[in-house]
Amino acid sequence: MINILFAALTERWEQYETPLRAALEATGLAYCLGTDLPAEEVDYIIYAPNSTVQDFSIFPNLKAVLNLWAGVEAVVNNPTLTVPLARMVDEHGLTQGMVEWVTGHVMRHHLGMDAHINNPDRIWDDTPPPLSKDRPVTILGLGVLGQACAKALTNLGFPVTGWSRSAKDILGIRALHGDDGLTQALRDAQILVLLLPNTSATTNIMNAERLALLAPGAFLVNPGRGPLIDDDALLAALDSGQIGHATLDVFRVEPLPQDHAFWTHPRVTVTPHIASCTRPDTAAHAIADNIARSEAGAPMLHLVDRDAGY
Ligand code: NDP
Repeated sequence: MINILFAALTERWEQYETPLRAALEATGLAYCLGTDLPAEEVDYIIYAPNSTVQDFSIFPNLKAVLNLWAGVEAVVNNPTLTVPLARMVDEHGLTQGMVEWVTGHVMRHHLGMDAHINNPDRIWDDTPPPLSKDRPVTILGLGVLGQACAKALTNLGFPVTGWSRSAKDILGIRALHGDDGLTQALRDAQILVLLLPNTSATTNIMNAERLALLAPGAFLVNPGRGPLIDDDALLAALDSGQIGHATLDVFRVEPLPQDHAFWTHPRVTVTPHIASCTRPDTAAHAIADNIARSEAGAPMLHLVDRDAGY
């Protein structure tokens, strides 16, 4: 019998209990799943930010922690966590949702949809938008989500450049890495999508100097994390016209404070951290299958590199 502690807010337990039980049944494992188990009996913890668990050292037999989200910044630096930490990768839920959200917002900017949706002066401007082949898109972060979005945008005809920490060879994408690669990736990009994790190495990566490398009037789409952008530099770039529009899903403080300038800026779209959500029905299988792997003696999937922070 393996004991799995669900350590997240009560409303999440209400969403996840039934799908998790179904997914665990499908693995054939004998299990006990609950929100309140004796600490010494816990084998695995399913974890989400604002969890009731902050001190993992009270679980002497803990084998691994499975994060419900893709981003792990709430737990990765917890010094009491000494067992493997797996993050959420779910092709059919989280990844698909991100592809849809990024593609939609890229297409909105590419086609200049706002000018037609919001046209109070009834201006008949029949200038055609460029074709996608003439609209270079750059994605910072070529992980699970960045690569899936790159593939979708490439399939729509956009020339896509991606940037990551390690060198990559991805069919149909100009994949760059390193400091020089970042400069090249940003230079003259017309649409920039941020899909990096929030780590000490990525904080404020989009500062004034790097925003200035983009094509004048470029569109910025950030479903990654708020601290990737220097907010003041972005506001200045929006005011100067260097950035034509910013669609922001994530922020340094969430919910975004009511008095934050992003709410009222005419060329900022705020979405409430909904670019992609962990979907209980599919995520439950990702979690259960990973626990089953561990129980079978196989290495767990999607383990976090604690030193790199993601
Ligand atoms: P992955 O870990 O699969 O990918 C992260 C990518 O970022 C990798 O390509 C990695 O490089 C790159 N990277 C990390 N650090 C650096 C660095 N210092 N320099 C250059 N590249 C770097 O993560 P996912 O694709 O699954 O998720 C990405 C992020 O998306 C999450 O961390 C989270 O913040 C965000 N997210 C947001 C959601 C939302 O609703 N807004 C939902 C889900 C996720 P390498 O490939 O070399 O390791």
